[in-house]
Amino acid sequence: MTAGILPPIENETFSSWVYRCSVASPEISLRLRSPSVKSWSGRFIDEWIYEDPDFDVDSEFLRFAAEDLSLSSDLIEEMVRRENRTVLTWPARRIYCRECLRGDVSRGHLPAWRKEWCYVDSVFCTVHGLQFSCLKHEHDIEKGWVAFSDSALQKGCFSRDFETWVTDPVRAEKHKLLQQIHSWRERRYSEIEIDFDILLNCFELVFSLFLQAPTTEHSGGLGWHISHWGSGRPNLGRYRHSYGRSLSTGVMEAGINERVCALILAGRAFGIISPADIEVLSSSARSFYYPFSYSKEALGHCCSNYNNSDEYLYLMSQFERFPIASMGLLAEFISGVQRKQHNTIAHSAWLRGR
Ligand SMILES: [Zn+2]
Repeated sequence: MTAGILPPIENETFSSWVYRCSVASPEISLRLRSPSVKSWSGRFIDEWIYEDPDFDVDSEFLRFAAEDLSLSSDLIEEMVRRENRTVLTWPARRIYCRECLRGDVSRGHLPAWRKEWCYVDSVFCTVHGLQFSCLKHEHDIEKGWVAFSDSALQKGCFSRDFETWVTDPVRAEKHKLLQQIHSWRERRYSEIEIDFDILLNCFELVFSLFLQAPTTEHSGGLGWHISHWGSGRPNLGRYRHSYGRSLSTGVMEAGINERVCALILAGRAFGIISPADIEVLSSSARSFYYPFSYSKEALGHCCSNYNNSDEYLYLMSQFERFPIASMGLLAEFISGVQRKQHNTIAHSAWLRGR
């Protein structure tokens, strides 16, 4: 291994570590020749696909850095190790804990990006008991430093609803519920005789339904209906998305407030959070966000958001990937999903009859 390399901070991403090493050592910086993450154009205008410099050992970034710095395979293996959860794409890795970054700087390190911030359903720092923050724009491997300086310059609240969202009692209740979901996820296997990893995958599917991208074809998941504090509904309608693609796009492009809402709603759908648990949050947030008080069945009805029978069948095929045992937890929610299908078929029949 090359001299002058810094030890990685616990749980640090590979790209963050390479950035910190290149800033700390002129020799390493010279060897790496301004490393950056590779991208190429996608199928749509202005669409860019990025390699994964943090978890993909075949990415150019990782291969070149490993070769230039003579890194051992053990070290690489340790750095790319991750949990069995979906990771955000590179440009979507904008979510961070400002207190973790401040802690790095106070200990004399450059701010380090953490692996825990790279998962689609990461919204809450359990070390600091704090909802994550979100960079407005994508950045290259220096994003830890950008996030640190952004959070140091953070501006105050800009609307009454937003102020309610980030102050007590809503703030404290949100954190309590997010901690509850985190504790549930920390259990490796449940008592209900199904593989907990499968249950977590099913949870991710429901979470992605609440974050379905608002497009020209779909109005978007319930999570998107918050956080545009008085500025109207969001619209990612740059392309004509299929139903499946609207789910995978929304979960990548959502900001932190949409994610928090979607996670809490998914916790309700699975019964991790009871109506009593959520009562304070739902009554405090009711003036600007009703869905916290919805029943499981109403959540299923409102979040499925399909336009025709093909999209309905696609959605049900996604649920059918999971064993009946996990579906039992979701029975009320699924019945809400199916209730919308009855309305959709009735509406289609009515249209055909005109
Ligand atoms: Zn933290």
